[in-house]
Amino acid sequence: MTETLTVEQRRAALEGIAAEVRACTRCPLHAAGRTNAVPGAGSYTAEVMFIGEGPGFNEDRQGLPFVGQSGKLLDELLSMIGMRRSQVFITNVVKCRPPENRDPLPDEITICTQAYLYRQIELIAPKVIVTLGRFSMGLFFPNAKITQIHGREKWENGRAYLPLYHPAAVLRNMETLKPQMEADFRKIPQLVAQWASRQSSTTAASASAEPPEQLTLF
Ligand code: SF4
Repeated sequence: MTETLTVEQRRAALEGIAAEVRACTRCPLHAAGRTNAVPGAGSYTAEVMFIGEGPGFNEDRQGLPFVGQSGKLLDELLSMIGMRRSQVFITNVVKCRPPENRDPLPDEITICTQAYLYRQIELIAPKVIVTLGRFSMGLFFPNAKITQIHGREKWENGRAYLPLYHPAAVLRNMETLKPQMEADFRKIPQLVAQWASRQSSTTAASASAEPPEQLTLF
């Protein structure tokens, strides 16, 4: 469906979703102390989409994702691979801050992702989805353990899914997790490049599978 939309139509649809998020009352988090819902930010044609857990204190104040210390670390890691925030799209599993930064509840995750996140993914159609932390990992790698699968991508639905630690977890254990996070982050541009080569080999395979053209009509 996304291929049939112009960039302007995609932009309008994503801005429509953002407006819905800001006024959303679908789950109890809307009344749990929310100052601003945080729909997500970045490029509507991003090749790479980052999905965190949920807004924290600063994100709730500003209505933007990853603006505190975790955001600074994310910026540093992006810069390490030659990318800027404006080139990627950053959002969360739930768009409103859970009170006292508690974990989002299963029902909140189900309601919010079905209402917004999956539509955002469909419209942006990223080549690589990077999950940050165990809640977004759980959407695409059910029952996995982050300590076991971080940095190990899987390909599905024509894109790569790369599970990474949440930057907040890295900040709590810089000595051990920062080198691992940097190594995992370096895979992102490699996966974008692999996406292109996978596309061209798929195209070549389907072209060679087509029956040879008829040379005569009789
Ligand atoms: S967390 Fe999601 S579903 Fe719940 S109120 Fe906020 S936007 Fe709506």
